[in-house]
Amino acid sequence: MNFYIDVILPLPLEKHFTYEVSQHEGEFLKPGMRVAVPFGKTKIYTAIVYRVHREAPQLYEAKPIEQILDEKPVITAIQLQFWTWIANYYMCAEGEVLRAALPGSFLLESETLIQLSPTQSINENDLDDQEYLIYEALKTQSSLRIQEVVQLLDKKTVLPVINRLVSKNIIVVNQEIFEQYKPKLVRYVKLAEAYASEVKMTLLLEELSNAPKQRDAVLTWFQLTATSKKPVPLKDLSRISGASASIIKSLIDKNIFEEFYVQQDRVNFDADPTNTNFKLNKGQEEVLNEINVGFAEEEVCLLHGVTSSGKTEIYIKLIEAAIARDKQVLYLLPEIALTSQLVSRLQAFFGEQVMVYHSKYSVNERMEIYNHVLKDEARAKIILGARSSLFLPFKDLGLIVVDEEHETTYKQFDPAPRYNARDSAVVLAGMHKANLILGSATPSLESYYNATHNKYKLIELKERYGNVLMPEIEIVDLKEKYKKKQMTGHFSDRLLGEINTTLKEGEQVILFQNRRGYSPILECITCGHSPHCPNCDVSLTFHQFSNQLRCHYCGYHMAMQQQCMVCDSTELTTKGFGTEQIETELKALLPEARIGRMDFDTTRGKYGHQKIISAFEQENIDILVGTQMLSKGLDFRKVRLVGIMNADTLLNIPDFRAHERSFQLMLQVAGRAGRTKTRGKVLIQTYNPNHQIVKQVSENNYLGMYKEQLEERYQYQYPPYYKIIKFTLKSRDYSKTNEAADWLAKGLVNVFGQNVLGPEFPPVARIRNEYYKNILLKIPPQQSLGKTKQYIEKLLKSFNAVAQWRSVRVIINVDPY
Ligand code: ADP
Ligand code: ZN
Ligand code: ZN
Repeated sequence: MNFYIDVILPLPLEKHFTYEVSQHEGEFLKPGMRVAVPFGKTKIYTAIVYRVHREAPQLYEAKPIEQILDEKPVITAIQLQFWTWIANYYMCAEGEVLRAALPGSFLLESETLIQLSPTQSINENDLDDQEYLIYEALKTQSSLRIQEVVQLLDKKTVLPVINRLVSKNIIVVNQEIFEQYKPKLVRYVKLAEAYASEVKMTLLLEELSNAPKQRDAVLTWFQLTATSKKPVPLKDLSRISGASASIIKSLIDKNIFEEFYVQQDRVNFDADPTNTNFKLNKGQEEVLNEINVGFAEEEVCLLHGVTSSGKTEIYIKLIEAAIARDKQVLYLLPEIALTSQLVSRLQAFFGEQVMVYHSKYSVNERMEIYNHVLKDEARAKIILGARSSLFLPFKDLGLIVVDEEHETTYKQFDPAPRYNARDSAVVLAGMHKANLILGSATPSLESYYNATHNKYKLIELKERYGNVLMPEIEIVDLKEKYKKKQMTGHFSDRLLGEINTTLKEGEQVILFQNRRGYSPILECITCGHSPHCPNCDVSLTFHQFSNQLRCHYCGYHMAMQQQCMVCDSTELTTKGFGTEQIETELKALLPEARIGRMDFDTTRGKYGHQKIISAFEQENIDILVGTQMLSKGLDFRKVRLVGIMNADTLLNIPDFRAHERSFQLMLQVAGRAGRTKTRGKVLIQTYNPNHQIVKQVSENNYLGMYKEQLEERYQYQYPPYYKIIKFTLKSRDYSKTNEAADWLAKGLVNVFGQNVLGPEFPPVARIRNEYYKNILLKIPPQQSLGKTKQYIEKLLKSFNAVAQWRSVRVIINVDPY
């Protein structure tokens, strides 16, 4: 009597694979357990049991498995169901979902490398013979392949041993090297105990009367402590009193001042610990009630609340309620690295119950969190994470919060599964019968459409917390400014003026330019030539700091040219500008100001973002120049001015969502201004002061933007009315890419007619020497999505059967935005 299991392999296969197991194994195995199975000629993979049954496969003879790897399922039934949904909806293989869903160390295979864990500490007596052999070998050899372990132990089934060593944290799997973060220490000074009384203080000041600078420093320290009632950082004391480091040092040497250090690894949103006892204001309270009514009716709620309206506090109350019902909570964020502030805010509030799931964490760290969630442990009740945390093994999910739901980072573009975490969260919440709230100051058109068409419940919060006014927005006409010669570099006189005033009043400035590097185009004035990437169809961006020309697509770089490569002319000019150029100009214009830059080039490494965010927060930076990274929900206290250097680069992106995106981006950046008492100011520099979007941003008119964009989507047949599936073909052979695209497009046109657009080259048609071509399929609302996908699958099967196109890859992207 034979038993069989269907498994999901971590490979892009169309179907499950069936293996044979013994009766004993068949009775033991359950869906969600891992098994090691042979696949292909020599390879061993970790696969997931999907179904146990008694039917032999028709087309091939089932092979036996190598080994059972788990005693209990590590994948829940809901996870399997969710993977199937993702694979069907986004048209990819379950194996691809599996790879995205599980930390690498769950998926040992023959090629996997193991190493000793850098943090391991063991008692060698705790190891059995086999474990000890591996441990010994790794002491002399930095890494081993699983296949080598097979030889070492002289047996085929080594994965269970390796799994044990991984869970004991003795070895790590495919470990990348991670940067160690050294928390920053901030230096403070205080007056020595000996001078605590008023009398002694007076004596001290007299004593110092012939050292006026030291006396000033002491006096200033006094004033600062009296007004702020907080410890005084040495930097502030020195800046405000004008006392040099050596003056302060002599006071320390004389035992008048004492210095001490405080670790500032967490961004302090507010040092006041009583802040965790906040109360909602009336508006927030009403919103909370409305949400709860919505939840009671099993509705998805969309919270449209202006920037700084206090949405986070409402989420905190919802989380509290879910935790009180002993449920798990998933809080989705667009990007963890950029939201360290929010993370510490929630950690301050929920303490040990919060865990952060981060793609920059090591494989082992991620595996640990996975296991905590699987066991529904108290310390992992609340998971904060970016999109991939949707795949954690929740047992009893009660609430999902999707913060900044309009953010594009919720969509995974590469590799498959090309899913949108916000939309998938709606499905996952349904499977768990969990509540779901989407929140944003600038909801995506799709979500707002759903909320106004009875699919979601719309809830609005129109005022900023504490009655802080929305920032005042001023548009600066660049055409006019250039004509009247009121520009210095890329700064209008208005912007420079406002920057100066803001700095003088001790407040901070954010400048936004959505392009990094110094300048995207270097052009010869004599012959017009501009250097391009040899591997991609883009011009190279000039980076001044490294004095290089770099490709932003493939990383190719070369030294900056002093002469034109074609005509040898030395007259070269740059066109366009990026964050680096803004920074350079600023340094020349305002030599006194402390300027920071936040873009892809300055934020590498695990804590790259955090360092810059902290520096700005602790006011070690006066002006922060950056790309769209600046728009992501940061809550800075002292920013009064936001300058958008050029709105036009955003508006001119060739994409049906360019206008919606520009609106969201500008409004979000603007929302960083004036979040506390004083009203913020935003200057938008543009060549198109009459552009509808610029106007709508300046009037904070979301609804106006929504209506107008929706009308365009209707006319041009885009989402939310039509669905879109995008096909990208790529290969190293230009004409093959072309021919294959024509073939596929023809096949689509046969059935879908004029709803097929293209094939068309994308704006950058060659990347890393591969040629790209796109086809867009629009699906009208009345057309069945399931049938459409069925046809596409059939068509792709025929496509894959054509031998000459074997080298052409077809990438399918459902909802490619
Ligand atoms: P949003 O997420 O809507 O942009 P935040 O939640 O960041 O807004 O709130 C803006 C500011 O107001 C934050 O500094 C927050 O601490 C403060 N705040 C909001 N609601 C309250 C409240 N009920 N009590 C105290 N402070 C609040
Ligand atoms: Zn030239
Ligand atoms: Zn390139």
